[in-house]
Amino acid sequence: MNILFLGSGTSTGVPVIGCDCRVCCEARRPGSRQARLRSSVLVQTSQTTLLVDSGPDLRQQALRYGLTAIDAVVYTHQHLDHVAGFDELRAFCWHRDSPLPMYAGPQTLAQLRQMYAWAFAPSNTWKGYVHPDAHDHGGKPFVVGDVEVCPVPVVHGRVETFGYVFRSGGRSFGYVPDIKELPESSVPLLQGLDALAMDALGTVPHFTHLTVEENIALMHRLQPGLGLVTHTGHRADYEDLAAGRFPGWPSFLRPAYDGLSVEL
Ligand SMILES: [Zn+2]
Ligand SMILES: [Zn+2]
Ligand SMILES: [Zn+2]
Repeated sequence: MNILFLGSGTSTGVPVIGCDCRVCCEARRPGSRQARLRSSVLVQTSQTTLLVDSGPDLRQQALRYGLTAIDAVVYTHQHLDHVAGFDELRAFCWHRDSPLPMYAGPQTLAQLRQMYAWAFAPSNTWKGYVHPDAHDHGGKPFVVGDVEVCPVPVVHGRVETFGYVFRSGGRSFGYVPDIKELPESSVPLLQGLDALAMDALGTVPHFTHLTVEENIALMHRLQPGLGLVTHTGHRADYEDLAAGRFPGWPSFLRPAYDGLSVEL
């Protein structure tokens, strides 16, 4: 199983429009790891390609990383930084004989149906549009190709939000880009994975996201083989994360960055 980070930034991306902080200035230099598109990952095996979320940077991400075909889209939640690139999915529909499978929880799916009603309408028969094959996973595990996908309910503000554990070939990858709190019932689902990427917005407490400090505390509890912090904002300096300059930083923890590829 290979994991490609198409984006590792929070909802604004980094640099932030109009911001001249040090991280944003560095992020404007070509090739800087401070630069972060909106969070999304590609989970790939030899048989299956899953896209997690379709954020507003999807077009740029697909072009940058040569993404031409996907087997399904898996949605974490309905926030715009995770769904606003929905219309770009049409390029992945043009070469298919069947509609594109999309998996989401009931609230996210209802929101997608409302936002992109034309795509879900029975009258949507034109080849050029997005053709969704929508699945409400209802929080229950499902299978796409040779990948088992287990939804993990998390607390992230007021919207229904899932992280996911992907399993294939005996390997496991957990992805939780947006989370403030992990309910006790979800803890066993994320314990001892081969790799786990999780939210760390920055250093200032936030009501819907983990701080780096909170991420570290959870990582100690969950003990993945490889821990990754993602969905970071401009108050999280990549260099500080890469050097582990935070109290209690575990030896297995690294910052994700755009273009990071993890082979499991
Ligand atoms: Zn987000
Ligand atoms: Zn900034
Ligand atoms: Zn969110």
